[in-house]
Amino acid sequence: MDFLDFHHHKQIKKGIYNLNHLEAIPDTMFSAGIHPKDITQNWKSDFEEIKKKTLDKNCIAVGECGLDGLITVDEKLQNEVFQAQLSWAEEIRKPVIIHCVRRFSQILHFKKAKIPLIIHGFNKKETIAKELLNVGFYLSFGRAAMESLSLQKIIRNIPIDRLFLETDNSDFSIQDLYEKVAEVKSVSFENLKNQMWENLGNIRHNG
Ligand SMILES: [Zn+2]
Repeated sequence: MDFLDFHHHKQIKKGIYNLNHLEAIPDTMFSAGIHPKDITQNWKSDFEEIKKKTLDKNCIAVGECGLDGLITVDEKLQNEVFQAQLSWAEEIRKPVIIHCVRRFSQILHFKKAKIPLIIHGFNKKETIAKELLNVGFYLSFGRAAMESLSLQKIIRNIPIDRLFLETDNSDFSIQDLYEKVAEVKSVSFENLKNQMWENLGNIRHNG
C-alpha cells in the first residue's frame, strides 16, 4: 500500500493533490479551493468553478482555504471567502483542508462546522494544538516535524486518529516522515500507514 500524503502540490506525488487555482481536475485524488492568496474581487465567479470541481468523485476535500495574517488581502474578505467554502463543504459533505497563518483564534470560531476540519502544515505550539484538538480539529504535519522536537512532542501526544502527514510544497520523502512519526509515537510503521488510510476513510464518511 502507498503512503498517504495528505496534502501536496505536485501531480507526480501520490496522495491528495491540491489543485492550483482553477486548474483542470486530474483523475487522481485531489482537493480544490480558493487559497487566501488567490482571492480577488472576482472570487465569486472563481468559486462557481471551484464548486463544480469539488463535486467530482475524486475530490476528497474542499481546500486548501483559510485565513492568512501575513498577506495583504483584506481580512473581512478572507473571512467571507472562507465561510462560503465551509458552507459549501457542509452542503456537499466533504472535509475542509485549512491553511492558517497567524489566525488560530479566528479559526477556532469555525469549530461548529458539520464536516471534519483539518489544519494542514501544523507548526505551532502545543497549547494551540490542544485547543484545536479539544474542539475536534484534525492536524496534519509536514517537513517541520522531521526536525522540531516541540512538534514531535505534540505528535507523541496527539490521538493517532486525529493525525495526518503531508509533504506540501517540500521535496522530501514522505516515507522519511512516516519513519520519524512511527518512532516518535512508538507504533509500527505498518500500523501507522494503515491508520492514515483509516483516518482518511473516517473524515470522508463523517461529513
Ligand atoms: Zn499547501
